[in-house]
Amino acid sequence: MLAQHIDTKSMSIFDVTKIRADFPILSRQVKNHPLVYLDNGASTQKPLQVINAISDYYQHTHANVHRGVHTLSQEATDAYEKARITCMEFLNAGSKEELIFTKGTTDSINLVAHGFGMKFLQAGDEVLISGMEHHANIVPWQLVCEMKGAQLRVIPVEEDGTIDLEKYKSLLSEKTKIVSVVHISNTLGTVNPVEEIIQLAHERDIPVCIDGAQAAPHMKLDVQQLDVDFYAVSGHKMYGPTGIGLLYGKKKWLEKMVPYQGGGDMIEQVTFEKTTYAELPFKYEAGTPNIAGTVGLAAAIQYIKGIGFEGIQAQEQSLLKYATERLNEMSKVRIIGTASQKASVISFVIEEVHPYDVGTILDHMGIAVRTGHHCTQPLMERFCVPGTIRASFAFYNTAEEVDQLITGVKKAVDMLT
Ligand code: PMP
Repeated sequence: MLAQHIDTKSMSIFDVTKIRADFPILSRQVKNHPLVYLDNGASTQKPLQVINAISDYYQHTHANVHRGVHTLSQEATDAYEKARITCMEFLNAGSKEELIFTKGTTDSINLVAHGFGMKFLQAGDEVLISGMEHHANIVPWQLVCEMKGAQLRVIPVEEDGTIDLEKYKSLLSEKTKIVSVVHISNTLGTVNPVEEIIQLAHERDIPVCIDGAQAAPHMKLDVQQLDVDFYAVSGHKMYGPTGIGLLYGKKKWLEKMVPYQGGGDMIEQVTFEKTTYAELPFKYEAGTPNIAGTVGLAAAIQYIKGIGFEGIQAQEQSLLKYATERLNEMSKVRIIGTASQKASVISFVIEEVHPYDVGTILDHMGIAVRTGHHCTQPLMERFCVPGTIRASFAFYNTAEEVDQLITGVKKAVDMLT
């Protein structure tokens, strides 16, 4: 029965059983049940290739980067800069100068909000975001708007979880200094038409920042083709380690913006009177970076490349379709976010039941889902729900796991309604 729901074409592209063997954590038990990990939107699990790359780095190569003339420091610097090239190719950034290592998407957006905002925002200016933003793409802008007397404006979200493009067009004005929107919503799964969003802003010479935290694990990215001004990514959501992320930024902006943090490595010359900054990208990489994190992230990118986005998307989309069909069969379940273009993220609510209670029942069955507001409180308000239950699938998930989720949700409905 299950096999019919999996696109046979996708199954021939890669072997899920073989892939799962790369992820040791997937074979553990939770509450005496095999783990069913459906919280990939929050963080993905790590393959042995990533774990081993980090371990090898610490066992054989580690020293601080860009500082010593000794062999280990040079080797660590080589590993760090080689990882940058891998990440640059992954996003198809035009040059190393435009690829900054950060702690993750939150850090990347804070860097842009501070660096761009402190330089270019003035009282009365506007920053335009959407109603489906993660708090990481709201709060940094609020902070800088407050400092500069600028205003945050919000593009509304339609009932199906898409951005209201007509409203977007009407909100763009000479006051708009930057647009910052999410590529794929972590709560709704909506894939936003970022090409169009960017083009419309550029017609008015307004730069665009894209929160790509949820896009990088699911689709091929090309920042040059998008012509995007800033693009933010987290390593841990794309099978890499925590505490490492990327910011792509166009050189023309990065050169003019102010540094987000000061310290070692980001300087050219320091005197007590004045400091000059290092060249790009080091101007934005103050202090000892997460070197092992970059090595792990590069290994994750190689791993993703090895599978290929064609296979990843076929598998994830078939899981999305199957889970959507099964959830829609349940009368008390309502899916929030029904856009035609979605990544493998499903948020749903059960009539009169609090999401946490459902999450707890599922956890007792070894099923990990996310419950709550998913760091999108304004979006919860928009849909008049306190939170949702969110199942987010990776390419290592299976139709059998979707069935287990459905069994768990049915149990929750029986127990709680
Ligand atoms: N934006 C989106 C869309 C996200 O899903 C997340 C993580 N949930 C973030 C930003 C923040 O990412 P991080 O916590 O890795 O900085």
